[in-house]
Amino acid sequence: MTISQNALTVLQKRYLIRNEKGEITETVDGLFHRVAAAIAAPDKLHDAKADVKKTEETFFHMMQELEFLPNSPTLMNAGRPLGQLSACFVLPVADSMEDIFEAIKQAALIHKSGGGTGFSFSRLRPQGSTVNSTGGVASGPISFMKVFNMATEAVKQGGTRRGANMGILRIDHPDILDFIDCKANNNEINNFNISVGLTEKFMEAVEKDTDYDLIDPHTKKAVSTLHARTVFDRIVDAAWRNGEPGIIFLDRLNRDNIVPSQGEIESTNPCGEQPLLPYESCNLGSINLLKMLKAADGKTEFDWDKLGATVKNAVHFLDNVIDANQYPLENIDRVTKQTRKIGLGVMGWADSLLQMGIPYNSDEAIALGEKVMNFITERGREESAALAEKRGAFPLFAESILPQDKPMRNGTITTIAPTGTLSIIANCSSGVEPVFGYVYIRNIMDGTEMIEVNPILKAELEKRGLYSDELMKRIAKEGTVAHIEELPEDLRRVFVSAHDISPEYHIRMQAAFQKGTDNAVSKTVNFSNSAAREDVASVYTLAFRLGCKGVTIYRDGSRAEQVLNIGQVK
Ligand code: UDP
Repeated sequence: MTISQNALTVLQKRYLIRNEKGEITETVDGLFHRVAAAIAAPDKLHDAKADVKKTEETFFHMMQELEFLPNSPTLMNAGRPLGQLSACFVLPVADSMEDIFEAIKQAALIHKSGGGTGFSFSRLRPQGSTVNSTGGVASGPISFMKVFNMATEAVKQGGTRRGANMGILRIDHPDILDFIDCKANNNEINNFNISVGLTEKFMEAVEKDTDYDLIDPHTKKAVSTLHARTVFDRIVDAAWRNGEPGIIFLDRLNRDNIVPSQGEIESTNPCGEQPLLPYESCNLGSINLLKMLKAADGKTEFDWDKLGATVKNAVHFLDNVIDANQYPLENIDRVTKQTRKIGLGVMGWADSLLQMGIPYNSDEAIALGEKVMNFITERGREESAALAEKRGAFPLFAESILPQDKPMRNGTITTIAPTGTLSIIANCSSGVEPVFGYVYIRNIMDGTEMIEVNPILKAELEKRGLYSDELMKRIAKEGTVAHIEELPEDLRRVFVSAHDISPEYHIRMQAAFQKGTDNAVSKTVNFSNSAAREDVASVYTLAFRLGCKGVTIYRDGSRAEQVLNIGQVK
């Protein structure tokens, strides 16, 4: 398998082993061999006669073919001294000075190892309440978030990646209004994504146009009331302004909490796709759907046999990661192994649709998305049940809410990650997101321009004899294929980009994948710059109605610094 130039650059910069002089001493195949060997080894823990070599070859093959990749910490750290393999952690923040600063220390250790952390700050007493030991005044959740943020800033993740955090506050916390606006200036609390934890009670109050209670978490008493719709509009306004805060639906996360006996789910990981209990961690992995296609009768379609076989091997892989992992804290080791959650997801979804000639914003794509994800979860569960027969069910299985007639090795199987770096390595569209831009033009140092074109668009244009540099420059400038009138209609209908797709279709696709996903789906709903606040509000309502677990939106141009720019020559 040949790796793309962009993939090689990313791997060289952050993934391949270097010696003391900073020289790279590992090849890309070497990396995949290192990871395959480290993750196959735990087979021996369960069966002294296991053919570890065969498992290693299977794991190597699916990574080398870019059919499946585990999350970045596994690629970076497996088979190396650090050995921390998970991307997602949630830590508790209890209402005492000791506990708050303990959480900061624990987060620092996790960031150092390449993981991201989520926290709920809902248990902290509100700003202005009394501190018993000193008779002083509490400074409230937001002031402590700033301390967490500074600690993160100081810990650069071992030169690999910067710490990422999720901060959540319940809608009924007395400091909620300050929280909603705490990132109005994007330079503040910049190492956090923030989300408001909405309750069904609150959503009902919005609908009925009534007030709701704010509860002091310390005294558990209602301290005041707010008008629900006014607060909802305030969240919408803040998100419309610069994309933050996001929202998550707490009751929905807890309905899918497989072990309610262990407490409530209060937070997710930084990008929102993985709800976890305090001290739980989860390792993710993604199947590249573009590699799961086959040609049949002159058409391209999913190769369900290949997808099924890949799911089976991926679940085996991710279950082994739990045992190969070196956890940053003893508590995390213990709690993680009680439920053995894994998060298998997909990438290359939009590219697969292009290859099949199906527009992302079509009912056909929505139905197929639902089918693909249901299939993956179903096959994943079969493999987890097969592993449970050989290795035993996860320790809390008997007290879990899962059907008791089919023991499972893993408490959850599926999660859809953003695949920010994995999709670059695999050279495909990220997660279940649509293609953002089809053509990018980069100025290289000697003044020449390099044109980067989505490989599927390029192949299609070449096949039809339509490819030219001039056309590519136009697509780069206009940011879309859909509006170039001299291109054939079918091409313009299929090669849609994020901004050609209505927010409703973004949410419908998220909901389609959520239906077959145990955990949650990472997705950003893109709005054009001219979108109104009402458009954002209606997407929130639709997401709630369609069963999504949360929503993140972004209105084009609403932040001073924006990672991707279309129509702008870089
Ligand atoms: N993550 C992180 N720091 C980063 C990027 C990601 O801590 O710089 C964590 C975070 O929990 C996120 C998860 O990794 O939700 C998965 O992100 P993604 O799929 O983009 O990671 P990849 O494996 O592609 O690097």
